[in-house]
This record gives sequence, structure tokens and C-alpha cells, in this order.
Amino acid sequence: MERPWSAVRLSRRLWGLLLCHALLQQDFFARAAPACASPKVSPSVAGQFWHISDLHLDPTYHITGNHTQVCASSKGVNASNPGLFGDFMCDSPYRLILSALQYMRDSGQQVSFMIWTGDSPPHVPVKELSTKLVIDIIGNLTATIRSFFPDLQIFPALGNHDYWPQDQMPVSASEVYNAVADFWKLWLTGEAVSTFRKGGFYTQVFQPNTTIQPLRIVSLNTVLYYAPNIVTHNMTDPANQFEWLEGVLESAKQNKEKVYIIGHIPVGYLAHVRNITAIREHYNERLIDIFRRHSSVIAGQFYGHTHRDSIMVLLDKNGKPVNSLFVVPAVTPVKARLEADSNNPAVRLYQYDTLSYSLLDLWQFYLNLTEANLKNESVWKLEYVMSKAYGIEDLKPESLYEMANQLSVPQSKLFQKYYNYYFVSYDPSLCCEEQCRINQICAIQHLDRSSYTDCIEHEGKLQYG
Ligand SMILES: [Zn+2]
Ligand SMILES: [Zn+2]
Repeated sequence: MERPWSAVRLSRRLWGLLLCHALLQQDFFARAAPACASPKVSPSVAGQFWHISDLHLDPTYHITGNHTQVCASSKGVNASNPGLFGDFMCDSPYRLILSALQYMRDSGQQVSFMIWTGDSPPHVPVKELSTKLVIDIIGNLTATIRSFFPDLQIFPALGNHDYWPQDQMPVSASEVYNAVADFWKLWLTGEAVSTFRKGGFYTQVFQPNTTIQPLRIVSLNTVLYYAPNIVTHNMTDPANQFEWLEGVLESAKQNKEKVYIIGHIPVGYLAHVRNITAIREHYNERLIDIFRRHSSVIAGQFYGHTHRDSIMVLLDKNGKPVNSLFVVPAVTPVKARLEADSNNPAVRLYQYDTLSYSLLDLWQFYLNLTEANLKNESVWKLEYVMSKAYGIEDLKPESLYEMANQLSVPQSKLFQKYYNYYFVSYDPSLCCEEQCRINQICAIQHLDRSSYTDCIEHEGKLQYG
């Protein structure tokens, strides 16, 4: 008996999508809304870049009367309110991804590069995918992004879904690393491609040979540290990435470069639960230690994976803010079956100082999915500008620290705002009661075990003491 969505059917639909891409571009999306609220940029000091993550293309998405059959990613559950641009029970229809990229391109923003932090395939049972299908989907999205931004430098990173079986990234060369390296070599140097083939990570200087201080991108494969990855269970340094990272940061310091760390699964503690790190805890301790020791060269860290919008501030051992970390919300609107809430589709624009590479601001854009489906039109909008929303001067570690302290004030209205943006304005009436608030607050400023545990204890005492 054929499964509801077999690999063959997924594959057929995937290639069907590629064919209709050109058509859709000319026709439907000609009606996409123009950009609003353009960031005011002084080109001499400020540069910009896009960040997208968790596209999770579901090639099976289609509108049908039988709501259990709208998409393979709903896993037999009824889609909630399926429309042209997707459904909160489903991963992204191709049309949604196209509308996001179209919006970014047509916004006219001058960007220097784009970060793409992984997770291209849909959330479907392992048996419904295959190595070939995963590779095909990553290839499809690489070609799609390239078609919208043919001349733009993209810095990608691998996500836990960018492998088959999912999460099981190996510590040496593999079919997936090789195939993806072939897709991404159009953006990467020979040296970057060669480390990528061995372990799914790389480093590359953005615009080498300029007279100013160079920016180095370090794309980590944090899937090697992910708890469900049984391949790396019991390893102290999977694929020698820690050793490699230390070496890269060390020489960056000597060469007077600044570094952006990009990766899929973030460091630190998950904000919606208690006491759980996003990667295995002992790997997290090690990474935090490395980041603290090298914080002077790291100008920013950018992640995805949680599908939610959150910030973290890395403090040194004396409690001084030393790094700004950002988790970008997903393009896919899907929620897990047991989750009550989801996120609207989102893309993000950062502004940075072109001399120091410190972060100046971010523009969070989103699509109100319910509205888009109602109107059969994708009107992407500005959700917020971080400096304005939180009353901070810029996004340097000191400013994010100030913001975090404001959020920690009991009954903080600002926290209510942060919590609404956490779900990309999915439901402004959502409330985060005391235990939920403590989880969020402690995850923002405390990325290592001992300070996180102290924070939970301290906040708990404030509440009950
Ligand atoms: Zn994801
Ligand atoms: Zn992920």
C-alpha cells in the first residue's frame, strides 16, 4: 500500500515546482506590495545584510477539500485554514518562499550579503524522505535563492533537517556534504568548500583585499552537537570543529579581522522551556567558553532553528556583556502538533557598522499569513525596528544588555512586546505568566549552566520569596 506521501510523490511535486517558478515570478507576484519603512542608511558607515532561515519547503502543499491531505508535513492532521500562502499546520508552500524572496529583492534594500541558516526539507517522517530528496530540496532552494539574487554573496549554514536521516550529520565526508558543497561552491572559496566537504562547516572572508578591517564569516555545523545526533554521541570534539574554530578565531585576532558566527542550532538555553540547552549541554559549555575567550574578535552571532524571534547577550565571567546573539524567526509557519502557537513567516535585515562590524539595528519583516490567505495576496510588512521598539541606541552587547534588563523588570510592558514578537505577531493577546517569563528572561542573559541555574533560582526567589 502506498503511504500518504511517498518519496516518489514528493520528488515529482518538487520538480513540478521548479517548472512553475518562472511562471509564478512573472504573474502572481507582480502584485506583491512594495517595501515600506526603508531603513535610513548613511552608505559611508552602514552596511546591510539579509538573514533568512528555516525555509522548510513542503513540495506536497496544495489546496484540497480534504484537509488531512493538504501537506505531508501536517502528518495526517487537519490543516487549520489552508490558503495560497500556507497553513500553520504545514511547512512552506513554494509560493510562500517565492513571495519572501520576491519581497526582499523588490524592497530595493542595498545589501552586501545574505546569511541563510539552514533547514530546507519539510518536517515529515524519516521514511518519506531520502538522501536524494534532501539533496534535491537543498539544490532547489539554492537555485531559487540564486535566481532572485544572482550577484549576491550568500553565506549558508547546514540545519538539522538538511540531512537524511535528519539530525544524523556525520563527522567526515558524506554524500550530502559533497552534493551541497557542489551547490554552494558558487558562493564559497575553494578552501571553504574543502572544509565543508569534510565536516559541513567553513570560514570565509567577506570582500578580502579591502583596505578596511576584514570581516570573516564562520559557518558552524552545530548539528554535530545536537542531542538527537547519535553519530556524535560520546565524542569530545566531533569533526574536530572546536579545535578548528579556536584556530580560526586565534588567527582572526592576529590578522585583525572581525568575525560573524553563523549556525543553525543556537548556543544557550531554549527560551520556551526550562533547563534545556539547544545543543547538548557539555558542547554548549565548551562553545560558550570559546566564545568568551575570543569575544573581542566576534562582532555578532546569528542562528535559526527555534523558528522564533529571540536575542541573547553573552556575558563574560564578571557579568560584562561581550557578544550580541540573534535567533531569526522562520520562513515556515508550521507548528508542531502539540504546540499551541506558531509564528508568522519572517525575514530579517541587519544594519552594521562597516568599519567595526558591530550591529547597529535590525528590521524584522513578516507576512501576516491569515491576512495573506484571505486576500490571496502576499503583503509583507515591517514588524518592528529593534532600536525603536526597545528604545536602545544600537545592537551592541551593552545595548542588548540594557534591553535585557528592561525586559526583566516585573510587569514590563516591553516584555509583553518582546513576547509578541517572539511569535512574529502570531497572536498579540498571548500572555507569558511568571514561570514562562522566568524561562525567557534567564535564557536571554545566561548562556552557561552555572549562571543560568543561578538566574532560575534567583528569579524564583523573587517571585515566591
Ligand atoms: Zn527548522
Ligand atoms: Zn532546525
